[in-house]
Order: sequence, then C-alpha cells, then structure tokens
Amino acid sequence: MTLTYLDHAASTPMRPEAIDAMMPFLDGAYANPSGSHRFARQARKAVDESRDIVADVLGCGPNEVVFTGCGTESDNMAIVGALARSTGVAVCPADEHHAVLEVVEHHGGVIVGVDAAGRVDLEALAATLQDLETRSDGVAVVSVMTVNNEVGSVNDIAAVAKVVRRHAPGALLHTDAVQAPCWIDVREVTPHVDLLALSGHKFGGPKGVGVLVERGGPKVDPLIIGGGQERERRSGTHNVAGIVAMATALKLTDEERATEIPRITALRDALVDGLVGALDDVIETVPRHDKVAGSAHVCIAGIESESLLFLLDEADVCASAASACASGAMEPSHVLAAMGIDREIAMGALRLSLGHASTDDDVDRGLEAITAAVTRLRR
Ligand code: PLP
Repeated sequence: MTLTYLDHAASTPMRPEAIDAMMPFLDGAYANPSGSHRFARQARKAVDESRDIVADVLGCGPNEVVFTGCGTESDNMAIVGALARSTGVAVCPADEHHAVLEVVEHHGGVIVGVDAAGRVDLEALAATLQDLETRSDGVAVVSVMTVNNEVGSVNDIAAVAKVVRRHAPGALLHTDAVQAPCWIDVREVTPHVDLLALSGHKFGGPKGVGVLVERGGPKVDPLIIGGGQERERRSGTHNVAGIVAMATALKLTDEERATEIPRITALRDALVDGLVGALDDVIETVPRHDKVAGSAHVCIAGIESESLLFLLDEADVCASAASACASGAMEPSHVLAAMGIDREIAMGALRLSLGHASTDDDVDRGLEAITAAVTRLRR
C-alpha cells in the first residue's frame, strides 16, 4: 500500500534527524534534568542547547523560551495566564483554532470578525478594543493567529500589533504561530508580540511538546504549577527527548525554508490547477497570494466532505475537511462560516495540505483519487 499523505497541517512526519536526535534520551540518557548529579546535568545541557536553538530560530532570548506539552497548552497558558493578571477581557478573531477560540469564549471574551480570506478585520478589531477600553475593565490579551490552520491565510501581525498598541496599550498580544514555521520566518513575527505559541509536530518534531515565548520576562501566570521547572513558568519534568527533537526539526525547517517554499508552491499549484482543470465547480477558498505554500483548501460543489473523505480513505489518500460532527449532524467549519462562505458550499470543503515530505507522486495520486471520488459522488 502506498499512502498518499495530504494532511500535513494536521501533523507532519517526523524528520529522520529529529528521531536520531531524540533516541539517546529515550535509550540511555534518561536522567531527570532537574537533578544534581552528572547524569542529570547531561540531560539539562541538552535542554539548554535546545533552548538556544529555538531562541535563535524564533528571534528571542533563551530565557524567553518556555517549553510546554503542546500548542494547545501554550495557547491556554497565554490567554488564561494573561486573564489571571488583569481585570480585562480576552479578544480574538472568529476563525482561531479551538485552542484559542474556546478559551476566549469560555472566559467570556469578545470575538471579532475576519475578512473573506480569513484574516482578522483590523477595523473591527480597532473598534472593539476602543469600545472595551472605554466601556469596560479593558483588555487583558488579544490573540491573533499567524497562519490559519484550515485555509492557510496569513495575518499581518505587525499591522495587528499597531492596532493593539494604539487602542489597548495595556493588553498583551499573543499569536498562535503553530502553523507558521515551515512557511514564515518567525523572527519577523516575534518582535511584534508579547507571547507566541508553537507545536513540535507541525514541522517535523514529535507530538506532545510545544513552546510559549514570553518576551521581556514572565508576562502571564503559569497554568501548571508544582516543581517550578522552566523558572516557575511551567512545572513538570522536562520531556528531554521531545525538546531535543523539536529543536532539531525547527533548525532544519528554518534552514530549508527558502528552498522548500518554491518546491511546495509548485506542488500545491499543480494539485489545485489539476483539480480545477479536471472537475467543474471547484472553488479555491483563499487566493494563493494570501496563503502559505503548503495550503490547498478547496470547496467542491455538489458533494459532501464526509463522503469524499470516506472514498479518499478507501483509496489510501489522507486529507481532512475540518468539519465537526456534532450530535450526528455535520457542521461546516467555524472558519469557513466566519469567512462568510455559504453553508452549502462549505459542506464540500476539502483541506489538502503539503509539507516537507510531499512529492510529485503525492500530487499525481491525490489528483487521480480526488477526481475519481468526486466524479463518483456526483453521479
Ligand atoms: N493552533 C493551531 C493553529 C493548530 O493548527 C494546532 C494543531 O492542530 C494547535 C494550535 C494545537 O497544537 P497541539 O496539537 O500541539 O495541541
């Protein structure tokens, strides 16, 4: 069986170098890095060196890097930790990942609209912040993602920062940059924000390890307390192997980005052009110049994503639709709804995403399988 993997935004395969880097810490150097003996110091050195690598790629100081258990934890810590230090509210756009959106909603925050490409509406954000600053206890934190995980659109974080600093100067700015490292030099994003979240498994590192950058020292309360690791910012014994592998993958991603972007852009264009050429009524959800190279999100008229994914799965093609199945009824994605896409069109959403392991063959096989499946469903 040859698997055609077109779901890199969900999780991308681990880079072999990252697997090699983590192995010694699974099989041999197993000491707890918080210990005082030589064996522990060896593990601590590996964590420290990884911290230096991560800081270099993210454009921050090593002391600003907090290792966490995943991207979801980093997002939760940024928002919950900011709310704990302020009387203000949290604000985010309507198409954020659930790791942000649900936290903001759960804490009675305010949701702002997005444009047709899935980018935060800067005028709406400015008006919301002005209103909250004058008529309530103000704003604790604004969270705007760097790259949208479903449709791949990119927010201009520098422009977001301008709006936030002007209209809510006391608020912290957080960005969920989980989908960014493969496509964007995060060094250009970090200086504009106070907090930034990453997740290891989106760029060739392992699952279950993430980063929260806290620029300029601790800005938020910790979410997990106990042993005081990470300078009291995130307790819990370090996932040494995971941290080392994540740093290795992040460094490679950074080094290869300039050559990977044109390679993946060509593959993505071939995939989308092929689908649009072979099938009627395939809508590109976001124009290519507004999204990252690895994203190929389309809406296919006359079919339902659920049935399409079933047929693709049978053909050994992995893709996703990002619709949630609530109480038996398929609900179109909150991202597409926020972008103002018609419910009927959104029901035919197909998220294809490419990454460092993608090849010409993936595109050829994916095209053939999707074209055959859609033709069958439309019959
Ligand atoms: N934020 C975004 C934009 C994501 O795409 C994801 C993962 O799908 C997360 C947060 C959550 O990251 P993790 O899977 O590490 O919890």
